[in-house]
Amino acid sequence: MSGAGALLLVGGTVLPGDGSAPSGPSDVLVEGDRIVAVGPTAAELAGPSVERIDATGHTVMPGLIDAHCHITFGEPASNDELFFHRDRSTAALVAAFDVQKLLLAGVTGFLDADCLWNLGPALRDAIEAGVVEGPRMTAGMNALLTAAGGTAGRLIPDSGTAAYAHVVGDRDEMVRTTRQQIKHGADWIKIHVTGSLPNRSGELTMWTLDELRSVTDTAHDLGTPCIAHCRNASSTRLAAEAGVDLILHASFMDDTALAAVVDAGCAIAPTFTFLANLADHGHQVGAGSGQVELFRGEIEATAAMVRAAHDAGVRILSGSESGFALTPYGHWHARELEVLVEAVGLSPLEAIRCATAAGALALRMQDGTIGVVAEGAAADLLVVDGDPSRDVTILGDRANLRHVISRGRRVDLDRPWPQRRPLPGEKVGQWATELLTREAAGR
Ligand SMILES: [Zn+2]
Repeated sequence: MSGAGALLLVGGTVLPGDGSAPSGPSDVLVEGDRIVAVGPTAAELAGPSVERIDATGHTVMPGLIDAHCHITFGEPASNDELFFHRDRSTAALVAAFDVQKLLLAGVTGFLDADCLWNLGPALRDAIEAGVVEGPRMTAGMNALLTAAGGTAGRLIPDSGTAAYAHVVGDRDEMVRTTRQQIKHGADWIKIHVTGSLPNRSGELTMWTLDELRSVTDTAHDLGTPCIAHCRNASSTRLAAEAGVDLILHASFMDDTALAAVVDAGCAIAPTFTFLANLADHGHQVGAGSGQVELFRGEIEATAAMVRAAHDAGVRILSGSESGFALTPYGHWHARELEVLVEAVGLSPLEAIRCATAAGALALRMQDGTIGVVAEGAAADLLVVDGDPSRDVTILGDRANLRHVISRGRRVDLDRPWPQRRPLPGEKVGQWATELLTREAAGR
């Protein structure tokens, strides 16, 4: 018999999340934070005090798992804003405000691979303790960069930390910083294997294989997985050879890199969403058009190889890179599924699996214990209008979410969407967007 707090989802079409086709109508019984029965036995096992939710005509599926978020960044419009217009206390408060939006958008689990001021583990613990309302979270700390940098050019200092970056100068510092992060609660160690330099096109590999191994060996010895930002072929190959567990982007992967990924058994979260948003919608929010063709090319080239990786059995995860002005929290977590269908050519069921069952890795949980509608799995569930197994765009529109259930509890979706005003000093001020030459002034 079910105790207080039990939920019975009645008569929905069950989309298991493991890639198999939906079936139903069927019932799902939740007790505590677990699914205890799916199918005819669910109603029989339910006690009289169970709360019944009518799911007739709706789809019952696992909550989404976003493998690539930056919850502490606060939606900056530029690296300058991110690096110079944040302070520790405010960033923590804003992150605690923003994280509820993921839950309201149907995201019941996410991986935050790197963060400002190592705030990630504290936010994760605050969510777990019920201090802050949010999805399940796994947290990295500062991303490890060599002095050659990452995606912020010369904003990356020669040593020390800035924004999300910790510059590690030599192998000793790589090992020491990895151990320190694990001591302070990191679930994942993030490495920025590529970075951009002024006057050089594309991203360059900034680490050697030996350097990468110094981090991955140290982390693995302490039971901690590694995640790497790789936006060229050689970095993807090196990361795989070094034993990185999850590769972000894997842009422009070539056959050699793909072979290394398959051999090593590492997973990929391609994260097309940021590129696709900029290419398709950047002009609507004043983004420069300079990189649009470049980004479309990156999506096309990478999608073909992600398809090959998927077919070779590589685990593909869905990540949105939410956290920037072009990917604000709560709006784009399901867009990756659209790109996985349209550009990569996955079926909707395969794409959904990337954001559900496959996401167990991002949360460091055993396969089958989360991201699936199955007896014994975590009760992180959505009840949605329509059939996402035919049309994944359904999941991108919050209006289609009837219920979000996180750890067995219903999330209040009736509240207004959380809105706020800019904080003092948060945005980069500009004197002008163009030079006031005499010609511009009409003199
Ligand atoms: Zn990222």
